[in-house]
Amino acid sequence: MNQPIDYTAKLNEALDRLHGEGRYRTFIDIERRRGQFPHATWNCPDGTERPITVWCGNDYLGMGQHPEVMAAMHEAIDATGAGSGGTRNISGTTVYHKRLEAELADLHGKEAALLFTSAYIANDATLSTLPKLFPGLIIYSDALNHASMIEGVRRNGGSKRIFRHNDVEHLRELMAADDPAAPKLVAFESVYSMDGDFGPIKELCDAADEFGALTYIDEVHAVGIYGPRGGGVTERDGLAHRIDIINGTLAKGYGVMGGYIAASARMCDAVRSYAPGFIFTTSLAPAIAAGAAASVAFLKHDQTLRAQHQTQAKILKLRLKGLGLPLIDHGSHIVPVIVGDPKHTKKLSDMLLERHGIYVQPINFPTVPRGTERLRFTPSPVHGPGEIDQLVHAMDDLWSHCALNRAEMSA
Ligand SMILES: *Cc1c(COP(=O)(O)O)cnc(C)c1O
Repeated sequence: MNQPIDYTAKLNEALDRLHGEGRYRTFIDIERRRGQFPHATWNCPDGTERPITVWCGNDYLGMGQHPEVMAAMHEAIDATGAGSGGTRNISGTTVYHKRLEAELADLHGKEAALLFTSAYIANDATLSTLPKLFPGLIIYSDALNHASMIEGVRRNGGSKRIFRHNDVEHLRELMAADDPAAPKLVAFESVYSMDGDFGPIKELCDAADEFGALTYIDEVHAVGIYGPRGGGVTERDGLAHRIDIINGTLAKGYGVMGGYIAASARMCDAVRSYAPGFIFTTSLAPAIAAGAAASVAFLKHDQTLRAQHQTQAKILKLRLKGLGLPLIDHGSHIVPVIVGDPKHTKKLSDMLLERHGIYVQPINFPTVPRGTERLRFTPSPVHGPGEIDQLVHAMDDLWSHCALNRAEMSA
């Protein structure tokens, strides 16, 4: 008989690799308290509870505790029960799903929208299905696209080309080198979540037009947050009509859960009919769909939260820059402070939590390139002057304590 394989030892090796590189992920166990965002309770490993302020959430506008969203969810649970009871095809399509899809199609000025259980699945399922719809499809993908897009492009059996981040000339070169007769699709994001920079959407669309390519945008970090009705950067810049497929989430700006694409009726019909990630999974719980629809509808007319969100981000950036911290600022709502190595980043994050009750998760490779490990702060309308003060003082204190470099003081 062969030597038995020691599976446990293999698992240990895999985990030890992560520990060795200082990028083993630990999840902080927290309980958010409705009505008190961004305050939460940390269930510490020693069994005690401590109050904390969450500074790394993606519930960008605090919609997760919005009264209209919660009322819609309560109402749907009382009316229809907990789950949907099936896949979309087999008894899992309800009035709540249809209503939400109509709300999303309208949001982006498209004929139709298609719901998925998350934006991750929406990206993965759609991008991996497109080559079935357009045989010979070549996908041109921005180098910093989200893991869900990479995954969809990687295992779709079609051809892929990676263009340098936001480099439209590189994209043009790649398209020019390919068969003019081949179907093509350019995939990119509107807001890149780790640097908080914007994609050159108009220029990318111009290049796509030049080569007869379809366009696909991930607006996950923009929907609800940018544009007069929350339709994202493409709405703000009047470019939605130039995008063939818009992807968004209901979990970040909208504060609930779920993902979608918005596109032509024919495109949605084809993806609906061919994407395993849409077909073979239970549809969203009706209460989730109801809450998401209420959130989307609310943010179509409310401007206050969007404005406050941008203001809080500006204030935090100004104050951290005032301390000379190495901040990336592309004018979006995301505030990344570069620390530059995984161990320091983890240590800073631990000290912020333990000494100051400030929770910000360290961001390491492979989420960001090595050497750019960072703390990524996400201010929101619920982060008031008191919370900002506390964070700024804590960062100042710890930056000195850890003897980290500061940038040249600038105005
Ligand atoms: C978070 C994220 C997703 C996935 O969204 P979920 O709805 O949480 O699955 C997709 N794209 C980008 C850029 C993201 O940051």
